[in-house]
Amino acid sequence: MLTINQLSKKFGKLLAVDEVDLTIPDGTVGILLGPNGAGKSTVIKSIAGLLRYSGKIMIQDTPALTIEAKKIFAYVPELPVLYENLTVREHITFICKAYGMKDNEEYIESLLERFELHDKQDKLGNELSKGMMQKVSICCALAIRPKVILLDEPMVGLDPKAIKELKEVIRELKEDGVTVLISTHMLEMVKELWDIMFVMNKGKILATYTKEQAENQDIEELFFQVTGGEE
Ligand code: ADP
Ligand code: MG
Repeated sequence: MLTINQLSKKFGKLLAVDEVDLTIPDGTVGILLGPNGAGKSTVIKSIAGLLRYSGKIMIQDTPALTIEAKKIFAYVPELPVLYENLTVREHITFICKAYGMKDNEEYIESLLERFELHDKQDKLGNELSKGMMQKVSICCALAIRPKVILLDEPMVGLDPKAIKELKEVIRELKEDGVTVLISTHMLEMVKELWDIMFVMNKGKILATYTKEQAENQDIEELFFQVTGGEE
């Protein structure tokens, strides 16, 4: 479960995030949908503890900035950042060691297979394409078996096979009771994946829809209505 209360973030005079409240229960996929500049990445970076902010963020029942919370959540940034001198395989084993993961060799193998990184596992971070880096970043996040996972525009730069695989992984995480938060500016990418949608623009959450509420409604139409036609 992820709970955010009254999250605000200013960059100088710019109020990038303005009193955002949101809750995503266990086993639920939440979508932060909004145009470029809406404040999605700022919300996600705040949860990940990369920015100073005002407000309260809880992961399960623990403040997000504590070690206990950090142990159980994973973050896939908008732009992947890899270590130049570690191989694909070493990235994953390094993260797993840092998180004290044991006996997950089989799971790591399955991730490498699914994201077609098996034959690239000895390549160094700086020998990879942007899409491959994104896939390594996703595998690292999944390998620690998080209870809460944040994915910032995860489909951008992925090939169709990886997008399909990621969607499948997200469905499995949900079945396992994991809380998933995905930011996107592209509705198309998250169709049939989400349970709760937060429409964000200019730092504010303008509308929240559950899957049931949005049933028989055109989400695209709703999105344009609440954001005033911007995307
Ligand atoms: P989104 O992810 O929805 O596209 P962001 O959260 O990246 O939006 O940005 C929200 C607003 O905050 C934008 O106006 C952006 O220019 C501004 N912003 C983001 N990061 C910084 C920063 N480090 N310094 C100054 N302004 C920033
Ligand atoms: Mg962003």
